[in-house]
Amino acid sequence: MDVTREPIGQETLASQLAQRADDEALAHAVLLTGAPGRGGLALALGLARQLHCKGTGPKPCGSCPSCLQHDQLQHPDLHFTFPVAKPPGKDKSLSVDQLDTWRQAILDLGAHFDMVELRERMSLGNKQPFISVHEAADILRRLSLTSHAGGWKVQVIWGAQTMRTDTANKLLKLLEEPPKRTLFILLADSTEGLLATILSRTQIIPIGPISPEAIRQRLEGEGGSSEAISDAVALADGDLAVARRLVKTDAAAEFAMYVDWMRTCYARDGRKAAGLADQFHDLGREAQKQFLAYALHMVRQCIVGNYGAQGAVRLRAAERGFAQKFAAFIHHGNVMDMQSTLESAAREVSGNVYGRTVFLDLSMKMMELLHRPK
Ligand SMILES: [Zn+2]
Repeated sequence: MDVTREPIGQETLASQLAQRADDEALAHAVLLTGAPGRGGLALALGLARQLHCKGTGPKPCGSCPSCLQHDQLQHPDLHFTFPVAKPPGKDKSLSVDQLDTWRQAILDLGAHFDMVELRERMSLGNKQPFISVHEAADILRRLSLTSHAGGWKVQVIWGAQTMRTDTANKLLKLLEEPPKRTLFILLADSTEGLLATILSRTQIIPIGPISPEAIRQRLEGEGGSSEAISDAVALADGDLAVARRLVKTDAAAEFAMYVDWMRTCYARDGRKAAGLADQFHDLGREAQKQFLAYALHMVRQCIVGNYGAQGAVRLRAAERGFAQKFAAFIHHGNVMDMQSTLESAAREVSGNVYGRTVFLDLSMKMMELLHRPK
């Protein structure tokens, strides 16, 4: 695939940020919020490249030694911190130990990948990666040294929502009074899960979804059937990482599991629900989150269809048939509770609750909700 680190669909924001950096009007700590697939990392890499560029004309020039180092992600004053998990037999883990994997991910995929990709590359299995307090100590140590190239030091913290409280607390002072010519770029899915004290010390810049046209154009450049691309554009909600995965994933398997689960809940089959909870558990946390997001999407589409807005329904052809039949059981008397139940299950999965427990509990609630009168 043709790899690019360009801020696809975020060109306006990118040039605003570049202008602010040029005017030295950028805060010393910025927080870019939005799903990774919207391209926050592309913006961060672009800013770092611009600040480090030694060219004499417009920056980045693309050909000075700094720009060439950036091409390989090897600039000595560009630092990355991201969630990792402890390898077996070790008492701590640091991003530094996984830096080659991280760089390779960007070289192979560009800037629009997410935790699902990174987890796979780091072979984490079911382990939930996070940014530990050891990481904060490492950042402190690194940034207290003078910059190698005599200019800006840029510290990117990707997946900042996974910082533990002790990690965030340890970084506070540094965020408040960073060493001279140091730029922190934090990237997080949202401001949720970040301490208020972190938020108050950063300039928060929300990253909106990428337009469907920009996603379509990108996906078409990367190959894939036009049907798969149309589905992906419709379902990805402006997230290029999700869209790419949708083009590749077995849509049929996800749909089949959803249908099986909904039928099981409708039949109030507790034994079957327990079996499905085991399957769900074995998927791993990222896939669990993806399934819950999919279920939420399907439930919402039922209600859009029920209100007569068939044109607004975003479903694949196979899903449409099931959704139409099942829509009779999803109505204004239960849909709000279904949505909040699915959302809270997703939060529990993110918060490390055992997958099997989450899914069993969710199934029990869904059994009740599906039989609630209109
Ligand atoms: Zn340059």
